[in-house]
Amino acid sequence: MKEISPDQLYQLFNRSKRNTENVIKAAPIGICITTPSGHFEMVNPAYCEFYGYQQEELLGQHFTQVVPEENRAVLSALHEEFMQGNENQELRQEWDVVIKNGERRTVIAEAARTEADDGEPRKVTFIIDITQRKQLEERLKQANERLDHLAHHDELTELLNRRAGLQRLDEEIKRFKRYGTPLSIAMYDLDDFKAFNDTYGHSAGDSVLQQITTLVSEILRDTDLHIRLGGEEFLIIMPGVNAEEAYQGMERVRKSVEQQSFTEHQLTVTLSSGIVSYAEGSGSRLLDHADKAMYQAKKAGRNRVVIASSST
Ligand code: GH3
Ligand code: MG
Ligand code: MG
Repeated sequence: MKEISPDQLYQLFNRSKRNTENVIKAAPIGICITTPSGHFEMVNPAYCEFYGYQQEELLGQHFTQVVPEENRAVLSALHEEFMQGNENQELRQEWDVVIKNGERRTVIAEAARTEADDGEPRKVTFIIDITQRKQLEERLKQANERLDHLAHHDELTELLNRRAGLQRLDEEIKRFKRYGTPLSIAMYDLDDFKAFNDTYGHSAGDSVLQQITTLVSEILRDTDLHIRLGGEEFLIIMPGVNAEEAYQGMERVRKSVEQQSFTEHQLTVTLSSGIVSYAEGSGSRLLDHADKAMYQAKKAGRNRVVIASSST
């Protein structure tokens, strides 16, 4: 090994110190050092640039200056714990921060504890700006929620679509089997709606479909499920409701729709409905029975509610 004189060693040590300082200055990520009381003792240029402050505006200030007001107490407490050597907390965390102009950003902050030459601990924090990634994630999340909504709902009426509705029906049947609480369904279909469309146009028809379904949803109980099976045909699942109560509920719906007038021509529309209470069998069998009862309502002159004669 090469002999190094104390003088050379001293020079190397100083050079190493300068190199370290230069590396911190040139680092592309924000670095700061805080004292045990939480005051900034060092901030590198990337840190200042990210937060929009001059170095002298940060040095000596408390670190919560760059933290949203609502998080200050929590972060101060965490800082204190960290300084006391509590290793239980996550050292790499995501935080919302506030830059000088008041805008919010999201950073990943990773902290390390060191000991300074005064023998006291220091916290060194490295921050990476992940605002853009967070915004992308948020947009992706919203797009996924929208896709999920579209997959389960009908676009015109915003009701559950057929597939989602039949799935819910199967779930309610399972619940019936487990707990034995009554379960009824009502199918309803608008009367002579083809003639309505032919006379007033498809878009007037669409608008009536929206208004009627909104009206019906308002009358239903919170626990009822309202589904667009297709076209102008709908299903209502009524958990905890027997056939007689379902009949009364649907009569209320029928009368409200009959009394309502739609479009600028003050047109009226009626509906026919078939009701069945669950006893046994599959969901599609239950639907068949409701469909038959609805057909009887149509045959008997429309604008009426019929309870299926047998539920099996
Ligand atoms: P009924 O009383 O026997 O039910 O007669 P109807 O004319 O209502 O029955 P039909 O099944 O013959 O016709 C249903 C019509 O509903 C066909 C179509 O013109 C209309 N319709 C179905 N879906 C939509 C829709 O999404 N928008 C509009 N505007 N009309 C629709
Ligand atoms: Mg119809
Ligand atoms: Mg129809």
